[in-house]
Amino acid sequence: MTQVILPGKTIGMVGGGQLGRMVGLAARHMGYGFVVFSPESGSPAGQIADQEFVGSFDDLILFAQFAEAVDVVTFEFENIPCRSMQLLESLKSVHPSSHILETTQHRLREKTFLREAGIPVARFFAVNSIEELETAAASIGFNGVLKTAAFGYDGKGQCRIKSKSDLTAAWAVNKGVPCVLEEWVSFKKEISVMVARNALGEVAVYPAVENIHVDHILHMSISPARIDPAFMIAASELAVKIADKLKLVGILGVEMFYLDNGSLVVNELAPRTHNSGHHTIEASITSQFEQQIRAVCGLPLGPTYSVSPAVMVNILGDAWSDGVPPWDRILTDFPASLHLYGKSEPRPKRKMGHLTFTGSSQETLTLQAESVARKYRFTQF
Ligand code: AMP
Repeated sequence: MTQVILPGKTIGMVGGGQLGRMVGLAARHMGYGFVVFSPESGSPAGQIADQEFVGSFDDLILFAQFAEAVDVVTFEFENIPCRSMQLLESLKSVHPSSHILETTQHRLREKTFLREAGIPVARFFAVNSIEELETAAASIGFNGVLKTAAFGYDGKGQCRIKSKSDLTAAWAVNKGVPCVLEEWVSFKKEISVMVARNALGEVAVYPAVENIHVDHILHMSISPARIDPAFMIAASELAVKIADKLKLVGILGVEMFYLDNGSLVVNELAPRTHNSGHHTIEASITSQFEQQIRAVCGLPLGPTYSVSPAVMVNILGDAWSDGVPPWDRILTDFPASLHLYGKSEPRPKRKMGHLTFTGSSQETLTLQAESVARKYRFTQF
């Protein structure tokens, strides 16, 4: 029997970042209690929570107290020790499971799972020594990217390999930790699909979104992706297949490359809400944040179709280089929804907020988003 956690009960969120904050805001409008576990006090999610447990993600004693305070546990961040999630699992329902977290927080395990599930991925090799790196790199014509197997995000722990002479430096940069060498893929676009699945195996998938990165960090998401409709469908089918194979309960972001030859290759999975799904707050019947709650609480999943095209643009700490951005002027000039995450320290490259443009002309929305981002230096162009 699947457990249903009805509004009035309390959701426990592991991680205090902006994703947790936006899940918390959805929890609030649905009438749930919301409790956060964060390494820092006053975190973006903690600010809007009923209670914030502040401690290390290794602190099993504090995690046990957190479990006491909540009815179901979910997370917004992958780099949480599995031991901690397993402890929580012994005390409360945890969705997605610690097994899914273990698979997706490690590139080699994730890529191996995908390959075994019959999902197209770029050719990859486990690399544990410079000798293994040399052999693997030779087999892909020295055209690849070396990524640390664990703890990578926003392009951190990645080194491009373009020739044999790059190998020693790449191995040194990644400090000799276990890595994955991936073949370099020539793609037309990067896209992503959000898919939710509940314990009954019901699945809800959002239309694919097109992502534009600057310096490895997501800059803009354009919804729907400007690709052939047949590939929109193929992308949804891939995401659903992955969610089913993982026996996901929760929400999952699937990042894909849309290749020059028109096929799709999966790059990465994130078993949580995703930066490329923020537009769903304004542009979908059910936001990705509400959907995570529905999925982990055993509620029916909500409709995922878009009510309008949308473009989301990230606001990084770089926008504060000359002081607080003039939000009043920005909102006068640009008809967008403003989301700020309550972070007090605007460091360069730090995600501080986003703007979402909705309207009928995707082209106009994209131009407006690009214009505001350039004018107010939302990222390091
Ligand atoms: P990741 O951390 O794996 O999402 O990689 C960050 C970014 O690097 C991706 O969004 C791509 O733009 C680029 N990238 C990663 N892996 C590859 C690859 N195998 N081929 C081409 N580009 C890649």
